[in-house]
Amino acid sequence: MVMVKAFGYGNGGLEIANLLQHHQVDYLGVAFADEGISLKNGGIRLPIMVLNPESTSFSSIIQYQLEPEIYSLKGLHNFLKIAEHKKLNQFPIHLKIDTGMHRLGFERKDIDELIQTLKGNNTVQVKSILSHMATSDDPSHYDFALSQIKLFDELSSKIMINLQINPIRHILNTSGISNFPEAQFNMVRLGIGIYGVSNDAEEQKQLENVGTLKSIISQIRTIPPGDSVGYGRRFVAEKETIVATIPIGYADGISRAWGNGVGYVEIKNQKAFILGSVCMDMLMVDITTISCNEGDDVIIFGESPTVSEMAKTLKTIPYEILTSISQRVKRVFYR
Ligand SMILES: *Cc1c(COP(=O)(O)O)cnc(C)c1O
Repeated sequence: MVMVKAFGYGNGGLEIANLLQHHQVDYLGVAFADEGISLKNGGIRLPIMVLNPESTSFSSIIQYQLEPEIYSLKGLHNFLKIAEHKKLNQFPIHLKIDTGMHRLGFERKDIDELIQTLKGNNTVQVKSILSHMATSDDPSHYDFALSQIKLFDELSSKIMINLQINPIRHILNTSGISNFPEAQFNMVRLGIGIYGVSNDAEEQKQLENVGTLKSIISQIRTIPPGDSVGYGRRFVAEKETIVATIPIGYADGISRAWGNGVGYVEIKNQKAFILGSVCMDMLMVDITTISCNEGDDVIIFGESPTVSEMAKTLKTIPYEILTSISQRVKRVFYR
């Protein structure tokens, strides 16, 4: 299964789903029903699992042939009520077990009622049983990770034996795939890895950069010492400084914390540090030592700086940088 939630981690929705369909992945995963509906409307025929379906979305999930993750007895009863009303037969559902993440899922105490409820029910079919790991990326929580895998094996086996079913089982995300290869069961859920990002430096070397955020230089000017740049005069030039204005800002997902000399963009393969605060739609950079012209390309992230490097400086994770890039930033796809 490839996770394409949140607009393919900010990289693109339908285009990426289409490519994955071409490569015959078995499943796509999205967070919300609406994300799945837009993929189905765009012609995606792959099965799509919806991770956090609200009961209010069950009708459209059924209408669009999406496959809900069911994570509570309440959700199960709600879904079965609709399924019976619509006289469904073997509609595919996915059961999520909480093995320690404590986010969504059936707990050990729910399993008996879950089994009783599903026994002999033909309106739905358990396509898969899954769980999610809290620490698959962190060796210091190795034992906790193993305990999640063990509990998943135990509780999913209990469901399978009692219902006499043989569904797909899956628990691994990207870092789980790297660190717990023995726990693949019958499927894995690849997310950030397919977008070229690993949290392991060695593994990162084997991944290619997938997305580059580019802009251009709108205008160049030279300012004398004592002049300032941007709102609040937060940058004041100590010497003559050449300033380039780039038409991308915090409304595009560039964090304000990246401004004021913390972050940089690359122009002609050289670092140009941000002068003053990032504005809503623009930012200004120092190009005093870079020979460049208005209209030249600017790299916001990609090969350098990488999203991992930005995330580290900004005390966040690559996921947040990628998914923050707003919809008004045009995505261009290259093959
Ligand atoms: C997002 C998500 C994944 C993928 O995680 P990555 O770390 O991006 O590989 C897998 N499973 C669930 C339940 C998720 O929410």
